Amino acid sequence: MIGVTKLRVGVGNVGLSERPEREPGPGEVRLEVLGAGICGTDLHIEADEFSSAPPVTMGHEVCGRIDLVGADVSPSWVGARVVSETYYSTCHVCAWCRDGRPNLCPERRSIGSFADGAFAPFVIVPVQNVHPVPDWLGDHAASLAEPLACVCHCLCDPPLVAAGDRVLVIGPGPVGLLAAQVARAHGAEVTVVGLASDVARLEAARELGFVTGTQAEPQSASVVIECSGAAGGARTAFEAAARGARYVQIGVFGRDVEVPLDRLFEKELVITSGFASTPRSWRRAMRLIEEKAIDLEPLVSEVVPLGAWERVFADLRAGKGIKVVMDPRLGAAGVYSTNGRETA
Ligand SMILES: [Zn+2]
Ligand SMILES: [Zn+2]
Repeated sequence: MIGVTKLRVGVGNVGLSERPEREPGPGEVRLEVLGAGICGTDLHIEADEFSSAPPVTMGHEVCGRIDLVGADVSPSWVGARVVSETYYSTCHVCAWCRDGRPNLCPERRSIGSFADGAFAPFVIVPVQNVHPVPDWLGDHAASLAEPLACVCHCLCDPPLVAAGDRVLVIGPGPVGLLAAQVARAHGAEVTVVGLASDVARLEAARELGFVTGTQAEPQSASVVIECSGAAGGARTAFEAAARGARYVQIGVFGRDVEVPLDRLFEKELVITSGFASTPRSWRRAMRLIEEKAIDLEPLVSEVVPLGAWERVFADLRAGKGIKVVMDPRLGAAGVYSTNGRETA
């Protein structure tokens, strides 16, 4: 089968290539991929700013239908439409695994970087990782369960947002729009800010019911959530934080950045982050989806075949579109559909 592959270590080195197919082993299921979201991490893997073990099929945000199960897995799973946690394997014996923090396991291998991922017609994952998707949720939107679980890990464990908080989200990309919705679901009053060039993304934020802007008021927010992964965004977050505020870093910079850390002591800020997701944060994400507290559909700006990877990676790097989802069933070429936010 053909997959979008990180071919070799180094900058670039991504392309369509023939990938091995195999049967699921013990404890595993095979998913026919219905939707696989392209994430900032994929761009960092392409740029060689995030480690990987090439050659490896990319893609870790997946919705699929189980079509084969390992010998010891209940056949009742066959046909289930599911999303999947991303850890293909962890060591189970390190202090972090034993503490129930598998995201911090030094031996962790995730799909899409250290094990073959979902930018291909099929992906194999452990059955313990899968979560059934509600019938009403579309295949493509469902692939956003993974970034939602990452956001829930950052914001909910421990809980950082409560009713009455004034929350500022910096960066109106998919992660920012998920973080804003999670904060609202917890009773916060949320403002989303972006660059003047983020027109379409800020428009999407308004459609989701958020107040938006291109400038943040200094000392205005009791919680600042940095989702831009840009130095300017982080500096804005430090200035916009009120005294005693909580600063949450969700964006990934991919490089060292300069930020005004003196604000940390002057305002007694508390800085936290979260690395990837945990089984607990997945449970929270799936619950928020089931309660319809989070609207995933408006975040899908385009659905493309695997063959469009190069153009959409460039678009996302340029801040065009919101979440682009690959659907391997579409074959190798041509744009399939957009959500009224044309990026091509
Ligand atoms: Zn991701
Ligand atoms: Zn471990």
